[in-house]
Amino acid sequence: MNKTIELAEEHLLHTYNRFPVVLDYGKGVKLYDTDGKEYLDFYSGIGVHALGYDVEEYKDALKAQIDKIIHVSNLYYTDVCAEAACKLTKVAKMDRVFFTNSGAEAIEGALKTALKYAYNKDGKNDHEIVALDHSFHGRTCGALAVTGKAAYREAFEPLISKVNFANMNDLQSVTDAVNDKTCAIILETVQGEGGIYPATKEFIEGVYKLCKEKDILLILDEVQCGMGRTGYMYAWQQYDIVPDVVTSAKGLGNGVPVGAFMMTEKVAKNSLVAGDHGSTYGGNPLVCAAVSKVLDLFEEKKILENVNTVTPYLNKKLDELTAKHACVTAHRGMGFMQGLELTVKPGDVVNKCMDKGLLLLTAGTNVLRMLPPLVITNDDVDKMYAILDEVLTDMD
Ligand SMILES: *Cc1c(COP(=O)(O)O)cnc(C)c1O
Repeated sequence: MNKTIELAEEHLLHTYNRFPVVLDYGKGVKLYDTDGKEYLDFYSGIGVHALGYDVEEYKDALKAQIDKIIHVSNLYYTDVCAEAACKLTKVAKMDRVFFTNSGAEAIEGALKTALKYAYNKDGKNDHEIVALDHSFHGRTCGALAVTGKAAYREAFEPLISKVNFANMNDLQSVTDAVNDKTCAIILETVQGEGGIYPATKEFIEGVYKLCKEKDILLILDEVQCGMGRTGYMYAWQQYDIVPDVVTSAKGLGNGVPVGAFMMTEKVAKNSLVAGDHGSTYGGNPLVCAAVSKVLDLFEEKKILENVNTVTPYLNKKLDELTAKHACVTAHRGMGFMQGLELTVKPGDVVNKCMDKGLLLLTAGTNVLRMLPPLVITNDDVDKMYAILDEVLTDMD
């Protein structure tokens, strides 16, 4: 066996079934393994490498920041963090941001925001959350639940709040799941991990209306579908709503570990205050330099325009595959977040595509998922189509 794989298997915790490939470097929308084999990337490190690989301006910005300073803690101000916060809240159409180290941490912050908002209203600790079936919001389990300092916990207890589950695009199920204790409804504008299920306009606007009526916070998890992936900077911006809290991560830093939860001024004024939340690394100068540069490059490289230009072609080709192959039963998605529902194991398709030099993902139990870098062209779509068509023909 390959030495690297042997070493990793000997020492890493076995929480992943990794592909037997050792990736080495990337260029544009291509990845290369240590044997020099080239792969067309239609997964982008799970939606992270929005700009693709080896982007000179991005690398230069990070190198310059490394030469200056990497970390200073949130007890001090830095130029880069102020700039990143200003740029991000502007494109996100939110008023305030807290930078985190991951998507899951952004979710924790969003939930704490809602708990504190509700606690400030009625002083009670029995608030509940409504979430959706097929949702995915991350892997942490309430770090605060095991934190010994009571003052850090009080407003947010019980820390693993009661969660009532409802169904995507079923407004009645959400209405039924809401009660007097509900402090937040959390959902992905487009569900990713669960199988690529976009919320309909009617559903999103209905949930928004319900939240407004009952002064419940609407938390939109845009960790996967945000940062331009759907052709909008954040997917909710295509609807006639303004969420109370929005989470972001994945594409936000184009590779450095950074996330964010953002909120309106109204929520900020009535929720977390000094002492309520913190993070040692959260939004340190290195990751903020990345966020700031990524947002500049989104404009300079007209990233949203590219997604919107290529999406109709991508949709057309995926519709073609759906019509052509018996093993493809449905096609769903928005922008560069696409899924094909299969009657065969999506993992088998991913493996066969990998052998032929195309990297894809699965989602849910029966969905083949695509999250390409936001810089792919029609030509890349053609290359993806050629490989996937061949593999699906084998599986029909
Ligand atoms: C990936 C993901 C998360 C978790 O992000 P991590 O950075 O892995 O913690 C949360 N929500 C959604 C919608 C995601 O896709």
